Amino acid sequence: MAESLEQTDKQYLWHPFTQMKDWVEHDQLIIERGDGVYLFDTKGNKYIDGISSLWVNVHGHSHQKLNQAIKKQLDKISHTTLLGLGSTPSIELAKKLVEITPKGLDKVFYSDSGSTAVEIALKISFQYQQQIGQTKKKKFITLANAYHGDTIGSVSVGGIDLFHKIYKPLLFKSIKVQPDAKAIEAVMKKHHNQVAAIIMEPLIQGAAGMILLPKGLLKKVRRLCNKYNILMIVDEVATGFGRTGKMFACEHENVSPDIMCLAKGITGGYLPLAATLTTKKIYNAFLGEHDDLKTFFHGHTYTGNPLACAAALANLEIFKKEKTMQRLQPKIKLLQKELKKFKKLKNIKEIRQLGFMVGIKLKGYPANERTGHKIILEARKRGAILRPLGDVIVLMPPLGIGLGDLKKLITITYDSIAAAASQ
Ligand code: PMP
Repeated sequence: MAESLEQTDKQYLWHPFTQMKDWVEHDQLIIERGDGVYLFDTKGNKYIDGISSLWVNVHGHSHQKLNQAIKKQLDKISHTTLLGLGSTPSIELAKKLVEITPKGLDKVFYSDSGSTAVEIALKISFQYQQQIGQTKKKKFITLANAYHGDTIGSVSVGGIDLFHKIYKPLLFKSIKVQPDAKAIEAVMKKHHNQVAAIIMEPLIQGAAGMILLPKGLLKKVRRLCNKYNILMIVDEVATGFGRTGKMFACEHENVSPDIMCLAKGITGGYLPLAATLTTKKIYNAFLGEHDDLKTFFHGHTYTGNPLACAAALANLEIFKKEKTMQRLQPKIKLLQKELKKFKKLKNIKEIRQLGFMVGIKLKGYPANERTGHKIILEARKRGAILRPLGDVIVLMPPLGIGLGDLKKLITITYDSIAAAASQ
């Protein structure tokens, strides 16, 4: 008998963030196609994509306009380099990104994942300080429970021990601080002469379990950065492109960082693309004669890939045409209202929500019971794909989800958590 796809997967693949022993011992789902907010597996079952295919999908899968934009670009060229050449969609997109991001972010450096966007932010801020003569400013301040990606630089500024501890000998040291304005000021006061930048996720720490940061912290950090001459890097990889109810989380507190990292939703969740935006002041510090060696010596092969940039342009078009942000607001309210009902469930400790980012923290289970995982299996039986972050169930549907499907997703989530409570 021919080998099934699932068997082939188990023979050849190594899945990310996955204990493979467990993976090969259990039945696995294989997704074949998507349509709107639905994912279809190889057996023809359909599921609501409750986590936007890892927080990236914005307007739904296989959206006509996005598909067409990619196909149109495909007929022109799939890839050409930005090293020494320009390319049409990357130019058009850069202009649009500068227009829609907070004031003062005027230059766009492309890459292809959230981690690389962060690496670039770190290297730019380090090199900037060196090139303007602030040569002692070599360190970074980072927040407890931060998550900025999986490459060595981004792990160095991360704060989730479960993922990061093992790599400690490989990492550069950063100054870790609790997400509290007083604590941050104390650290800045003490170390500002050696600090190049602070990096933080704005308003909410997603991968840590949707932990909400204190209100106003982002704005206070902005002021502290000005006071202590420290660059402010904001990692909007998860929060950008509408997730929090505004196009960028920085808008909630009217903050313009010096550097902003974007990825995930930038292409509507269709193709890998990232952007690191900076101010002109930072960019200008890299200008000089060839032999001044002030160039930013960094560039990934697929930087500014035309297909991905075309998808990103279409994504922004759809935001406008479909009034995505306006239509999102009642959905956020519905989510908020429905989540209140979850308090009835005895196995819930806390509900965290910012816009369309939700974390439902469970209580009373030892980690080895893997209750979060059991809940997502219950959800699959009921027709939704969820994913736990430890004992936090994440809900992050595509922004374009209809009210009916949103209600359905919430009901499935509720019933799945209730089923786990009664086991
Ligand atoms: N920063 C944040 C805030 C993230 O949530 C993530 C991914 N979840 C990353 C960076 C890394 O992005 P990528 O997985 O695309 O490298």
